Amino acid sequence: MKNSVYRAPKGTRDLVWPDSERRRSFIDLFSAIAGSAGYAEIVLPMFEHIEVFQRLGDGTDVVSKEMYDFEDKGGRNLALRPEQTASIVRSYAEHRPSLPWKVWYAGPNFRYERAQKGRFRQFDQVGIEALGTEDAYLDVEVIAIAWRFYESLGLKQVDLLLNSVGTLQDRIRYIEALSEYFEKQKNGLSTEAQETLISNPLRVLDSKRDEDIKVVSEAPSILEYLSDEAKNHFNKVQEGLNKLKIPYSVKPNLVRGLDYYVQTTFEFTTKSIDAAQDAIGGGGRYDGLAAEMGAPATPGVGFALGLDRTLMACEAEKTFIGPGQFLQVYVVDTTGGENSLVITDELRQKGFKVDRSFGNRSMKAQMKAADKSGAKIALIIGEDEVEKGVVTIRDLRGEEGQEEIASDSVIANLEKRLG
Ligand code: AMP
Repeated sequence: MKNSVYRAPKGTRDLVWPDSERRRSFIDLFSAIAGSAGYAEIVLPMFEHIEVFQRLGDGTDVVSKEMYDFEDKGGRNLALRPEQTASIVRSYAEHRPSLPWKVWYAGPNFRYERAQKGRFRQFDQVGIEALGTEDAYLDVEVIAIAWRFYESLGLKQVDLLLNSVGTLQDRIRYIEALSEYFEKQKNGLSTEAQETLISNPLRVLDSKRDEDIKVVSEAPSILEYLSDEAKNHFNKVQEGLNKLKIPYSVKPNLVRGLDYYVQTTFEFTTKSIDAAQDAIGGGGRYDGLAAEMGAPATPGVGFALGLDRTLMACEAEKTFIGPGQFLQVYVVDTTGGENSLVITDELRQKGFKVDRSFGNRSMKAQMKAADKSGAKIALIIGEDEVEKGVVTIRDLRGEEGQEEIASDSVIANLEKRLG
């Protein structure tokens, strides 16, 4: 089609079956795992006052370059959510639920990114947030939930990268030292990294550009700037992960994109997809965020997993293939359609997945449709069958052929065949 107005906008796509059902099953599985740990679902607005997201940090790409912000007809400055943690903390500050407050979410976020494989402008995340305690074992619980979820999907190529960015004071001291170091080494950095340095020195550590690798690899490590409080917290997180036998590697360069993190930060990567898109999830602690939004100081920790990319990883590892069958039974009726009207309704009430054709088409056309539908079984009703009080049942995929069965034994017969 020439006119691009009638295409999904750049960076978005339509999910049709079976991908749509895989997405649903993914969220169902996530909800079961988060639910088993006492997390309740929260459904948030898709847009907020822009200030909610500005808390993510002026120097972050999400805020400075990628925000879908707009003025509504009432003159309010709003933005489509680029992530959901900020909204959850806003919701906490607004409603002050009792603590601990444990929630999970699923749904789309919006970022004006350079669209490419595995990087969309509308993408889904699932995640959890837990507010109310500084206990490092809560960090471990949160990480473990993500890890068990990946395991349940059948993923085996996931790596957990772990770091501590220290308390707020540690971070400030570290950023000072880091800025000083990068300033001295400026000539060894790419122009992009030099720009990032001005707005957010921590982000320079994220650079994957070849020109930056040497300077970045010799930069001071955050771990040398941790206070005793932060060290103890970080040790307890590692000890907890060891107890649960969850493997990880400590990556001092892992600062992650958002400004609100303190103490624990973590990321999940996969060996199964391109290095540029290998991050499939991440999270950390954000003990200062609630107070910034006007609530009493309340610690929090959580993660977000990218649904689209995690499903790409599943595809690469040939796991969580998703739905088996769309339809089980297809009813072919050459007597005018009333018989199939009744029998499809009956079978659907019994929980079978059943479809039929409309418009009184020929036997040949209906059989072709039955075949194309993917259904395993065709139920055929012609004048002959009606006269004899039977239905012809035909195995469309296997070797069972066809037989006539009494009309009142259809359900029992299908139960036997389909299990
Ligand atoms: P973040 O909220 O940036 O920490 O991202 C958490 C996870 O969401 C990442 O590890 C990705 O899997 C996924 N993600 C973030 N941005 C995008 C995007 N533009 N397209 C697809 N997935 C994304």
